[in-house]
Amino acid sequence: MYDVVIIGAGVVGASIARELSRYDLSIAVLEAGSDVAAGSSGANSGIVHAGYDCNPGTLMARLNVKGNAMFDQISRELDVPFKRNGSLVLAFNEEDISQLEHLKAKGEINGVEDLKILSAEEVLKLEPNINTNVIAALWAPTGGIVCPYGLTIAMAENAADNGVEFYFDNRVVSIDKRENGKFYIETTAGKFISRYVINAAGANADIISNMVGDDSFNIHPRKGEYCLYDRKWGNMVERTIFQPPSAMGKGVLVTPTVDGNLLIGPNAFDTEKRDDNYTSAEGLDFVYNRALESVPSLPRDGVITVFAGLRAIADAQDFIIRPSYKVEGFIQAAGICSPGLTAAPAIAEEVAAILSKIEGGLEYNKDFNSVRKGIKRFRDMDWNARAQMVKEDPRYGRIVCRCETVTEGEIVQALHTKLPVNTIDGIKRRTRAGMGRCQGGFCTPRIMEIIERELGIPMEYITKKGGSSRIVYGRIKDLLEEGEE
Ligand SMILES: Cc1cc2nc3c(=O)[nH]c(=O)nc-3n(C[C@H](O)[C@H](O)[C@H](O)COP(=O)(O)OP(=O)(O)OC[C@H]3O[C@@H](n4cnc5c(N)ncnc54)[C@H](O)[C@@H]3O)c2cc1C
Repeated sequence: MYDVVIIGAGVVGASIARELSRYDLSIAVLEAGSDVAAGSSGANSGIVHAGYDCNPGTLMARLNVKGNAMFDQISRELDVPFKRNGSLVLAFNEEDISQLEHLKAKGEINGVEDLKILSAEEVLKLEPNINTNVIAALWAPTGGIVCPYGLTIAMAENAADNGVEFYFDNRVVSIDKRENGKFYIETTAGKFISRYVINAAGANADIISNMVGDDSFNIHPRKGEYCLYDRKWGNMVERTIFQPPSAMGKGVLVTPTVDGNLLIGPNAFDTEKRDDNYTSAEGLDFVYNRALESVPSLPRDGVITVFAGLRAIADAQDFIIRPSYKVEGFIQAAGICSPGLTAAPAIAEEVAAILSKIEGGLEYNKDFNSVRKGIKRFRDMDWNARAQMVKEDPRYGRIVCRCETVTEGEIVQALHTKLPVNTIDGIKRRTRAGMGRCQGGFCTPRIMEIIERELGIPMEYITKKGGSSRIVYGRIKDLLEEGEE
Protein backbone atom coordinates (compact mmCIF):
# COMPACT_ATOMS: atom_id res chain seq x y z
CA MET A 1 0.00 0.00 0.00
CA TYR A 2 1.17 3.52 -0.85
CA ASP A 3 0.40 6.91 0.64
CA VAL A 4 0.22 8.41 -2.84
CA VAL A 5 -0.23 7.00 -6.33
CA ILE A 6 0.46 9.40 -9.20
CA ILE A 7 -1.07 8.44 -12.54
CA GLY A 8 1.10 9.56 -15.46
CA ALA A 9 4.87 10.04 -15.75
CA GLY A 10 4.91 13.11 -17.96
CA VAL A 11 6.72 16.23 -16.80
CA VAL A 12 3.82 17.01 -14.45
CA GLY A 13 3.63 13.55 -12.83
CA ALA A 14 7.43 13.36 -12.57
CA SER A 15 7.68 16.86 -11.07
CA ILE A 16 4.95 16.05 -8.55
CA ALA A 17 6.77 12.80 -7.69
CA ARG A 18 10.00 14.69 -7.07
CA GLU A 19 8.29 17.40 -5.04
CA LEU A 20 6.41 14.89 -2.87
CA SER A 21 9.61 12.90 -2.30
CA ARG A 22 10.71 15.82 -0.08
CA TYR A 23 8.19 14.44 2.42
CA ASP A 24 7.93 11.25 4.36
CA LEU A 25 5.49 9.51 2.00
CA SER A 26 5.48 6.21 0.12
CA ILE A 27 4.83 7.07 -3.51
CA ALA A 28 4.23 5.11 -6.71
CA VAL A 29 3.95 6.46 -10.23
CA LEU A 30 1.87 4.39 -12.66
CA GLU A 31 2.63 4.98 -16.32
CA ALA A 32 1.01 3.40 -19.37
CA GLY A 33 4.10 3.91 -21.53
CA SER A 34 7.41 2.09 -21.30
CA ASP A 35 9.26 5.21 -20.14
CA VAL A 36 8.65 8.69 -18.80
CA ALA A 37 7.53 11.44 -21.21
CA ALA A 38 5.43 9.07 -23.31
CA GLY A 39 2.79 11.78 -23.87
CA SER A 40 3.03 15.48 -24.70
CA SER A 41 6.07 15.92 -22.43
CA GLY A 42 8.06 14.05 -25.07
CA ALA A 43 6.75 16.06 -28.05
CA ASN A 44 6.56 19.81 -27.56
CA SER A 45 8.51 22.99 -28.32
CA GLY A 46 10.70 22.87 -25.21
CA ILE A 47 10.16 26.56 -24.50
CA VAL A 48 10.26 27.90 -20.96
CA HIS A 49 7.69 30.57 -21.68
CA ALA A 50 8.07 34.04 -20.20
CA GLY A 51 4.33 34.19 -19.39
CA TYR A 52 2.96 37.19 -21.34
CA ASP A 53 0.26 35.39 -23.28
CA CYS A 54 -1.74 33.71 -20.50
CA ASN A 55 -4.85 35.57 -19.45
CA PRO A 56 -4.24 37.44 -16.20
CA GLY A 57 -5.91 35.90 -13.18
CA THR A 58 -5.74 32.34 -14.52
CA LEU A 59 -3.87 29.53 -12.85
CA MET A 60 -1.87 29.22 -16.07
CA ALA A 61 -0.65 32.81 -15.81
CA ARG A 62 0.39 32.50 -12.17
CA LEU A 63 2.11 29.12 -12.49
CA ASN A 64 3.80 30.00 -15.79
CA VAL A 65 5.60 32.99 -14.28
CA LYS A 66 6.36 31.15 -11.05
CA GLY A 67 7.58 28.04 -12.90
CA ASN A 68 9.77 30.10 -15.25
CA ALA A 69 11.54 31.69 -12.28
CA MET A 70 12.27 28.25 -10.80
CA PHE A 71 14.21 26.98 -13.83
CA ASP A 72 17.66 28.36 -12.96
CA GLN A 73 17.76 26.49 -9.66
CA ILE A 74 16.05 23.34 -10.93
CA SER A 75 18.31 23.00 -13.96
CA ARG A 76 21.34 23.36 -11.68
CA GLU A 77 20.07 20.83 -9.15
CA LEU A 78 19.07 18.30 -11.79
CA ASP A 79 22.01 18.84 -14.16
CA VAL A 80 19.69 19.67 -17.05
CA PRO A 81 20.83 22.00 -19.85
CA PHE A 82 18.74 25.20 -19.81
CA LYS A 83 19.32 28.49 -21.57
CA ARG A 84 17.55 31.82 -21.15
CA ASN A 85 17.81 32.73 -24.82
CA GLY A 86 14.81 35.11 -24.69
CA SER A 87 11.91 35.26 -27.12
CA LEU A 88 10.64 37.65 -29.76
CA VAL A 89 7.07 37.99 -31.05
CA LEU A 90 7.25 39.52 -34.52
CA ALA A 91 4.85 42.14 -35.92
CA PHE A 92 4.42 42.65 -39.66
CA ASN A 93 1.50 45.15 -39.70
CA GLU A 94 -0.36 47.62 -37.50
CA GLU A 95 -2.80 44.98 -36.26
CA ASP A 96 0.15 42.87 -35.07
CA ILE A 97 1.56 45.89 -33.23
CA SER A 98 -1.64 46.27 -31.21
CA GLN A 99 -1.34 42.54 -30.41
CA LEU A 100 2.20 43.12 -29.13
CA GLU A 101 0.99 45.97 -26.94
CA HIS A 102 -1.81 43.77 -25.62
CA LEU A 103 0.65 40.93 -24.89
CA LYS A 104 3.03 43.33 -23.15
CA ALA A 105 0.22 44.70 -20.99
CA LYS A 106 -0.94 41.17 -20.08
CA GLY A 107 2.63 40.12 -19.34
CA GLU A 108 3.13 43.06 -17.01
CA ILE A 109 -0.05 42.21 -15.11
CA ASN A 110 1.19 38.60 -14.88
CA GLY A 111 4.49 39.80 -13.41
CA VAL A 112 6.77 39.12 -16.41
CA GLU A 113 9.86 41.27 -16.08
CA ASP A 114 11.70 43.42 -18.64
CA LEU A 115 9.25 43.14 -21.54
CA LYS A 116 10.04 45.62 -24.28
CA ILE A 117 8.77 46.46 -27.76
CA LEU A 118 11.73 46.70 -30.13
CA SER A 119 11.94 48.58 -33.44
CA ALA A 120 12.59 46.75 -36.73
CA GLU A 121 16.24 47.88 -36.66
CA GLU A 122 16.73 46.56 -33.15
CA VAL A 123 15.11 43.23 -34.04
CA LEU A 124 17.18 42.75 -37.19
CA LYS A 125 20.35 43.59 -35.32
CA LEU A 126 19.56 40.81 -32.83
CA GLU A 127 18.37 38.32 -35.45
CA PRO A 128 19.72 39.06 -38.93
CA ASN A 129 18.01 36.03 -40.51
CA ILE A 130 14.45 37.05 -39.78
CA ASN A 131 12.09 38.51 -42.35
CA THR A 132 13.10 42.09 -43.18
CA ASN A 133 9.39 42.99 -43.45
CA VAL A 134 9.26 42.91 -39.65
CA ILE A 135 8.18 46.28 -38.22
CA ALA A 136 8.52 45.58 -34.48
CA ALA A 137 8.76 42.75 -31.93
CA LEU A 138 7.96 42.06 -28.31
CA TRP A 139 11.20 41.10 -26.53
CA ALA A 140 10.92 38.84 -23.48
CA PRO A 141 14.41 38.18 -22.07
CA THR A 142 13.15 35.72 -19.44
CA GLY A 143 12.05 33.15 -22.06
CA GLY A 144 14.23 30.04 -22.25
CA ILE A 145 14.79 26.64 -23.80
CA VAL A 146 15.07 23.21 -22.20
CA CYS A 147 14.91 19.62 -23.42
CA PRO A 148 11.38 18.57 -22.35
CA TYR A 149 12.04 14.83 -22.04
CA GLY A 150 15.50 15.50 -20.55
CA LEU A 151 13.83 17.50 -17.80
CA THR A 152 11.20 14.79 -17.26
CA ILE A 153 13.87 12.07 -17.03
CA ALA A 154 15.84 14.18 -14.55
CA MET A 155 12.78 14.90 -12.39
CA ALA A 156 11.89 11.19 -12.36
CA GLU A 157 15.45 9.99 -11.68
CA ASN A 158 15.73 12.38 -8.75
CA ALA A 159 12.33 11.23 -7.45
CA ALA A 160 13.47 7.59 -7.80
CA ASP A 161 16.69 8.40 -5.96
CA ASN A 162 14.53 9.76 -3.17
CA GLY A 163 12.45 6.60 -2.93
CA VAL A 164 9.61 7.01 -5.44
CA GLU A 165 8.73 3.78 -7.26
CA PHE A 166 7.97 3.96 -10.99
CA TYR A 167 5.84 1.30 -12.70
CA PHE A 168 6.00 1.45 -16.49
CA ASP A 169 3.72 -0.46 -18.88
CA ASN A 170 1.01 -0.07 -16.22
CA ARG A 171 -2.03 1.52 -17.85
CA VAL A 172 -4.65 2.31 -15.21
CA VAL A 173 -7.91 0.63 -16.21
CA SER A 174 -10.06 1.09 -13.10
CA ILE A 175 -10.06 2.86 -9.74
CA ASP A 176 -12.34 1.87 -6.93
CA LYS A 177 -12.64 4.00 -3.80
CA ARG A 178 -13.80 1.68 -1.03
CA GLU A 179 -15.52 2.38 2.27
CA ASN A 180 -12.22 2.06 4.14
CA GLY A 181 -11.22 5.29 2.37
CA LYS A 182 -8.56 3.65 0.22
CA PHE A 183 -8.21 3.62 -3.56
CA TYR A 184 -7.91 0.22 -5.27
CA ILE A 185 -6.25 0.80 -8.61
CA GLU A 186 -6.07 -1.80 -11.32
CA THR A 187 -3.61 -1.53 -14.18
CA THR A 188 -2.87 -3.67 -17.20
CA ALA A 189 -0.04 -5.23 -15.17
CA GLY A 190 -1.06 -5.22 -11.51
CA LYS A 191 -3.05 -3.92 -8.56
CA PHE A 192 -2.17 -1.03 -6.28
CA ILE A 193 -3.70 0.38 -3.10
CA SER A 194 -3.26 3.98 -2.04
CA ARG A 195 -4.57 6.58 0.39
CA TYR A 196 -4.38 9.35 -2.23
CA VAL A 197 -4.47 9.44 -6.02
CA ILE A 198 -3.05 12.25 -8.14
CA ASN A 199 -4.35 12.44 -11.67
CA ALA A 200 -1.57 13.62 -14.00
CA ALA A 201 -2.68 11.58 -17.01
CA GLY A 202 -2.40 14.33 -19.63
CA ALA A 203 -4.75 13.80 -22.56
CA ASN A 204 -6.48 10.98 -20.63
CA ALA A 205 -7.03 12.92 -17.41
CA ASP A 206 -10.82 13.12 -17.89
CA ILE A 207 -10.99 9.35 -18.51
CA ILE A 208 -9.07 8.73 -15.26
CA SER A 209 -11.29 11.20 -13.39
CA ASN A 210 -14.41 9.47 -14.73
CA MET A 211 -13.13 6.19 -13.23
CA VAL A 212 -13.88 7.59 -9.75
CA GLY A 213 -17.15 9.18 -10.86
CA ASP A 214 -15.82 12.73 -11.21
CA ASP A 215 -17.00 13.99 -14.60
CA SER A 216 -16.45 17.66 -13.84
CA PHE A 217 -14.29 18.33 -16.93
CA ASN A 218 -13.50 17.11 -20.43
CA ILE A 219 -10.18 17.09 -22.23
CA HIS A 220 -10.05 18.15 -25.88
CA PRO A 221 -6.82 17.02 -27.56
CA ARG A 222 -5.27 19.55 -29.93
CA LYS A 223 -2.48 18.32 -32.13
CA GLY A 224 0.73 20.12 -33.10
CA GLU A 225 3.30 18.99 -35.70
CA TYR A 226 7.00 19.83 -35.92
CA CYS A 227 10.09 19.61 -38.13
CA LEU A 228 13.48 19.26 -36.47
CA TYR A 229 16.58 20.40 -38.37
CA ASP A 230 20.10 19.05 -38.29
CA ARG A 231 22.46 20.86 -35.91
CA LYS A 232 24.07 22.46 -38.95
CA TRP A 233 21.08 24.87 -38.96
CA GLY A 234 20.96 25.41 -35.19
CA ASN A 235 22.42 28.93 -35.43
CA MET A 236 19.90 30.40 -37.87
CA VAL A 237 18.29 32.15 -34.92
CA GLU A 238 19.55 32.58 -31.39
CA ARG A 239 16.26 33.51 -29.76
CA THR A 240 12.85 31.87 -29.94
CA ILE A 241 10.90 33.56 -32.72
CA PHE A 242 7.10 33.64 -32.43
CA GLN A 243 4.40 35.11 -34.61
CA PRO A 244 1.40 36.82 -32.97
CA PRO A 245 -0.78 34.20 -31.23
CA SER A 246 -4.25 33.18 -32.43
CA ALA A 247 -7.29 31.62 -30.72
CA MET A 248 -5.67 28.20 -31.42
CA GLY A 249 -2.43 28.92 -29.60
CA LYS A 250 0.95 30.57 -29.75
CA GLY A 251 1.46 29.97 -33.48
CA VAL A 252 4.39 28.54 -35.42
CA LEU A 253 7.76 29.28 -33.85
CA VAL A 254 11.33 29.00 -35.04
CA THR A 255 13.76 28.21 -32.24
CA PRO A 256 17.13 26.75 -31.50
CA THR A 257 16.87 23.77 -29.18
CA VAL A 258 19.02 23.54 -26.11
CA ASP A 259 20.90 20.68 -27.83
CA GLY A 260 21.80 22.84 -30.81
CA ASN A 261 19.20 21.81 -33.41
CA LEU A 262 16.64 24.11 -35.02
CA LEU A 263 12.94 23.41 -34.45
CA ILE A 264 9.93 24.75 -36.34
CA GLY A 265 6.27 24.24 -35.42
CA PRO A 266 3.69 23.57 -34.18
CA ASN A 267 0.43 23.90 -36.08
CA ALA A 268 -2.79 23.41 -34.10
CA PHE A 269 -5.88 21.42 -34.89
CA ASP A 270 -8.41 19.57 -32.77
CA THR A 271 -8.52 15.80 -32.96
CA GLU A 272 -10.80 13.17 -31.43
CA LYS A 273 -8.04 10.63 -30.83
CA ARG A 274 -6.06 10.61 -27.58
CA ASP A 275 -3.06 8.89 -29.18
CA ASP A 276 -2.94 10.76 -32.49
CA ASN A 277 0.77 11.47 -32.81
CA TYR A 278 1.00 10.99 -36.58
CA THR A 279 2.37 13.68 -38.85
CA SER A 280 0.92 14.55 -42.24
CA ALA A 281 2.44 16.06 -45.38
CA GLU A 282 -0.17 18.87 -45.31
CA GLY A 283 0.50 19.63 -41.64
CA LEU A 284 4.26 19.79 -42.14
CA ASP A 285 3.89 21.91 -45.28
CA PHE A 286 1.78 24.35 -43.30
CA VAL A 287 4.43 24.49 -40.56
CA TYR A 288 7.24 25.05 -43.05
CA ASN A 289 5.36 27.78 -44.96
CA ARG A 290 4.41 29.61 -41.76
CA ALA A 291 7.97 29.37 -40.44
CA LEU A 292 9.23 30.87 -43.73
CA GLU A 293 7.24 34.00 -42.89
CA SER A 294 9.54 34.48 -39.88
CA VAL A 295 12.80 33.19 -41.37
CA PRO A 296 12.65 33.30 -45.19
CA SER A 297 15.99 31.53 -45.73
CA LEU A 298 14.91 28.34 -43.90
CA PRO A 299 16.06 25.41 -46.01
CA ARG A 300 13.61 22.73 -47.09
CA ASP A 301 16.12 19.89 -46.96
CA GLY A 302 17.79 20.19 -43.55
CA VAL A 303 15.00 18.39 -41.66
CA ILE A 304 16.18 15.21 -39.93
CA THR A 305 12.93 14.16 -38.26
CA VAL A 306 9.31 15.18 -37.75
CA PHE A 307 6.98 14.56 -34.83
CA ALA A 308 3.65 15.56 -33.30
CA GLY A 309 2.28 16.09 -29.80
CA LEU A 310 -1.17 16.51 -28.26
CA ARG A 311 -2.14 19.47 -26.11
CA ALA A 312 -4.59 18.44 -23.36
CA ILE A 313 -7.06 21.33 -23.37
CA ALA A 314 -9.73 21.43 -20.65
CA ASP A 315 -13.18 22.99 -21.29
CA ALA A 316 -12.34 26.10 -19.25
CA GLN A 317 -8.97 26.45 -21.07
CA ASP A 318 -7.14 26.70 -17.76
CA PHE A 319 -5.15 24.24 -15.66
CA ILE A 320 -7.25 22.19 -13.22
CA ILE A 321 -5.21 21.76 -10.05
CA ARG A 322 -7.43 21.05 -7.10
CA PRO A 323 -8.92 18.29 -5.01
CA SER A 324 -11.78 16.48 -6.74
CA TYR A 325 -15.10 18.05 -5.78
CA LYS A 326 -16.66 14.60 -5.71
CA VAL A 327 -14.12 12.16 -4.30
CA GLU A 328 -12.07 12.83 -1.21
CA GLY A 329 -8.37 12.06 -1.54
CA PHE A 330 -8.36 12.38 -5.35
CA ILE A 331 -6.32 15.35 -6.64
CA GLN A 332 -6.51 16.68 -10.19
CA ALA A 333 -3.48 17.95 -12.10
CA ALA A 334 -5.36 18.08 -15.40
CA GLY A 335 -5.84 20.24 -18.46
CA ILE A 336 -2.11 20.92 -18.44
CA CYS A 337 -1.63 22.25 -21.94
CA SER A 338 0.98 24.86 -22.83
CA PRO A 339 2.70 26.35 -20.79
CA GLY A 340 2.62 23.13 -18.75
CA LEU A 341 6.29 22.31 -19.27
CA THR A 342 7.25 25.73 -17.89
CA ALA A 343 4.73 25.53 -15.07
CA ALA A 344 5.48 21.91 -14.06
CA PRO A 345 7.74 22.70 -11.07
CA ALA A 346 5.19 25.23 -9.80
CA ILE A 347 2.29 22.82 -10.41
CA ALA A 348 4.16 20.27 -8.29
CA GLU A 349 4.45 22.73 -5.41
CA GLU A 350 0.74 23.53 -5.75
CA VAL A 351 -0.17 19.83 -5.55
CA ALA A 352 2.09 19.33 -2.52
CA ALA A 353 0.37 22.25 -0.77
CA ILE A 354 -3.07 20.73 -1.49
CA LEU A 355 -1.97 17.35 -0.14
CA SER A 356 -0.42 18.94 2.92
CA LYS A 357 -3.66 20.80 3.63
CA ILE A 358 -5.76 17.63 3.35
CA GLU A 359 -3.30 15.65 5.50
CA GLY A 360 -3.01 18.43 8.06
CA GLY A 361 0.72 18.84 7.38
CA LEU A 362 3.46 16.63 5.92
CA GLU A 363 6.62 15.41 7.64
CA TYR A 364 9.89 16.15 5.83
CA ASN A 365 11.94 13.31 4.37
CA LYS A 366 15.21 13.94 6.20
CA ASP A 367 17.15 11.99 3.55
CA PHE A 368 15.84 14.03 0.61
CA ASN A 369 18.57 14.96 -1.84
CA SER A 370 17.63 17.57 -4.44
CA VAL A 371 20.71 16.93 -6.57
CA ARG A 372 20.83 14.56 -9.52
CA LYS A 373 23.81 14.06 -11.78
CA GLY A 374 23.16 13.44 -15.47
CA ILE A 375 25.23 11.25 -17.77
CA LYS A 376 28.54 12.95 -18.58
CA ARG A 377 28.56 13.82 -22.28
CA PHE A 378 31.77 12.82 -24.03
CA ARG A 379 30.94 15.23 -26.86
CA ASP A 380 30.97 18.22 -24.52
CA MET A 381 34.32 17.37 -22.89
CA ASP A 382 37.64 18.92 -23.85
CA TRP A 383 40.41 16.64 -25.13
CA ASN A 384 42.07 16.27 -21.72
CA ALA A 385 38.82 15.26 -20.04
CA ARG A 386 38.12 12.81 -22.87
CA ALA A 387 41.56 11.23 -22.54
CA GLN A 388 41.11 10.89 -18.78
CA MET A 389 37.66 9.32 -19.26
CA VAL A 390 38.99 6.75 -21.76
CA LYS A 391 41.88 5.94 -19.42
CA GLU A 392 39.46 5.27 -16.56
CA ASP A 393 37.04 3.26 -18.69
CA PRO A 394 37.96 2.20 -22.26
CA ARG A 395 34.25 2.02 -23.15
CA TYR A 396 34.36 5.83 -23.39
CA GLY A 397 36.85 5.38 -26.20
CA ARG A 398 34.36 3.53 -28.38
CA ILE A 399 32.05 5.88 -30.31
CA VAL A 400 28.70 4.21 -30.96
CA CYS A 401 26.71 7.14 -32.40
CA ARG A 402 28.92 8.98 -34.84
CA CYS A 403 26.47 11.81 -35.58
CA GLU A 404 26.21 12.87 -31.93
CA THR A 405 29.55 11.46 -30.69
CA VAL A 406 28.00 9.17 -28.06
CA THR A 407 30.21 6.51 -26.53
CA GLU A 408 29.54 2.99 -25.34
CA GLY A 409 30.36 4.20 -21.81
CA GLU A 410 27.44 6.66 -21.87
CA ILE A 411 25.03 4.01 -23.15
CA VAL A 412 26.08 1.54 -20.47
CA GLN A 413 25.65 4.26 -17.85
CA ALA A 414 22.12 5.01 -19.10
CA LEU A 415 21.17 1.33 -18.83
CA HIS A 416 22.08 1.20 -15.15
CA THR A 417 20.42 4.24 -13.56
CA LYS A 418 17.81 3.96 -10.83
CA LEU A 419 15.05 4.55 -13.40
CA PRO A 420 15.09 1.42 -15.53
CA VAL A 421 15.34 1.82 -19.29
CA ASN A 422 15.60 -0.92 -21.90
CA THR A 423 14.33 0.59 -25.15
CA ILE A 424 16.09 2.22 -28.08
CA ASP A 425 14.13 5.46 -27.60
CA GLY A 426 14.92 5.41 -23.87
CA ILE A 427 18.65 5.28 -24.65
CA LYS A 428 18.24 7.89 -27.35
CA ARG A 429 16.55 10.34 -24.99
CA ARG A 430 19.15 9.84 -22.27
CA THR A 431 22.32 9.90 -24.36
CA ARG A 432 21.28 11.41 -27.75
CA ALA A 433 22.51 8.25 -29.52
CA GLY A 434 20.35 8.15 -32.65
CA MET A 435 19.32 11.82 -32.45
CA GLY A 436 21.63 12.95 -35.25
CA ARG A 437 21.44 13.20 -38.99
CA CYS A 438 21.23 9.44 -39.64
CA GLN A 439 18.51 9.05 -36.97
CA GLY A 440 19.95 5.82 -35.65
CA GLY A 441 20.51 4.20 -39.05
CA PHE A 442 24.06 3.23 -38.09
CA CYS A 443 24.04 2.98 -34.30
CA THR A 444 20.74 1.18 -33.57
CA PRO A 445 22.16 -2.35 -34.15
CA ARG A 446 25.14 -1.55 -31.92
CA ILE A 447 22.91 -0.18 -29.19
CA MET A 448 20.83 -3.35 -29.40
CA GLU A 449 23.97 -5.42 -28.91
CA ILE A 450 24.83 -3.39 -25.81
CA ILE A 451 21.29 -3.74 -24.39
CA GLU A 452 21.40 -7.50 -25.02
CA ARG A 453 24.77 -7.81 -23.33
CA GLU A 454 24.05 -5.53 -20.35
CA LEU A 455 20.43 -6.47 -19.59
CA GLY A 456 20.26 -9.98 -21.02
CA ILE A 457 17.31 -9.14 -23.26
CA PRO A 458 17.53 -11.19 -26.49
CA MET A 459 17.83 -8.88 -29.47
CA GLU A 460 14.54 -9.95 -31.01
CA TYR A 461 12.71 -8.75 -27.87
CA ILE A 462 14.29 -5.30 -27.76
CA THR A 463 11.76 -2.62 -28.66
CA LYS A 464 11.91 0.92 -29.94
CA LYS A 465 9.49 2.18 -27.29
CA GLY A 466 7.85 -0.77 -25.56
CA GLY A 467 4.72 -2.70 -26.52
CA SER A 468 4.93 -4.36 -29.92
CA SER A 469 7.52 -1.96 -31.36
CA ARG A 470 10.15 -4.68 -31.86
CA ILE A 471 12.96 -3.80 -34.19
CA VAL A 472 13.97 -7.20 -35.54
CA TYR A 473 11.71 -10.13 -36.28
CA GLY A 474 14.15 -12.90 -35.47
CA ARG A 475 17.61 -14.26 -36.22
CA ILE A 476 17.98 -15.10 -39.91
CA LYS A 477 19.81 -18.34 -39.17
CA ASP A 478 17.06 -19.51 -36.79
CA LEU A 479 14.31 -18.52 -39.22
CA LEU A 480 16.02 -20.38 -42.07
CA GLU A 481 16.29 -23.46 -39.89
CA GLU A 482 12.55 -23.15 -39.15
CA GLY A 483 11.96 -23.13 -42.91
CA GLU A 484 10.71 -19.55 -43.21
CA GLU A 485 11.40 -17.71 -46.46
C1 LIG B 1 2.49 20.81 -29.57
C2 LIG B 1 2.77 21.20 -28.15
C3 LIG B 1 3.68 22.22 -27.85
C4 LIG B 1 3.92 22.60 -26.54
N1 LIG B 1 4.91 23.49 -26.27
C5 LIG B 1 5.17 23.84 -24.98
C6 LIG B 1 6.22 24.71 -24.67
O1 LIG B 1 6.99 25.12 -25.52
N2 LIG B 1 6.37 25.10 -23.38
C7 LIG B 1 5.55 24.68 -22.40
O2 LIG B 1 5.69 25.13 -21.27
N3 LIG B 1 4.59 23.77 -22.65
C8 LIG B 1 4.40 23.33 -23.91
N4 LIG B 1 3.44 22.41 -24.19
C9 LIG B 1 2.66 21.86 -23.10
C10 LIG B 1 3.40 20.73 -22.40
O3 LIG B 1 3.94 19.83 -23.33
C11 LIG B 1 2.41 20.01 -21.50
O4 LIG B 1 1.74 20.95 -20.72
C12 LIG B 1 3.08 19.02 -20.58
O5 LIG B 1 3.92 18.16 -21.30
C13 LIG B 1 1.99 18.23 -19.87
O6 LIG B 1 2.59 17.27 -19.09
P1 LIG B 1 1.70 16.13 -18.42
O7 LIG B 1 2.62 15.36 -17.58
O8 LIG B 1 0.50 16.75 -17.80
O9 LIG B 1 1.13 15.29 -19.63
P2 LIG B 1 1.83 14.14 -20.49
O10 LIG B 1 3.22 14.44 -20.80
O11 LIG B 1 0.92 13.87 -21.64
O12 LIG B 1 1.84 12.91 -19.50
C14 LIG B 1 0.70 12.17 -19.18
C15 LIG B 1 1.14 10.76 -18.99
O13 LIG B 1 0.05 9.99 -18.52
C16 LIG B 1 0.13 8.72 -19.09
N5 LIG B 1 -1.18 8.10 -19.05
C17 LIG B 1 -2.29 8.45 -19.75
N6 LIG B 1 -3.30 7.61 -19.45
C18 LIG B 1 -2.83 6.73 -18.54
C19 LIG B 1 -3.40 5.63 -17.86
N7 LIG B 1 -4.66 5.24 -18.06
N8 LIG B 1 -2.63 4.94 -16.99
C20 LIG B 1 -1.33 5.30 -16.77
N9 LIG B 1 -0.74 6.33 -17.42
C21 LIG B 1 -1.49 7.04 -18.28
C22 LIG B 1 0.62 8.98 -20.50
O14 LIG B 1 1.20 7.83 -21.08
C23 LIG B 1 1.60 10.11 -20.29
O15 LIG B 1 2.92 9.66 -20.14
C24 LIG B 1 3.20 21.99 -25.50
C25 LIG B 1 2.32 20.94 -25.79
C26 LIG B 1 2.14 20.52 -27.09
C27 LIG B 1 1.30 19.33 -27.37
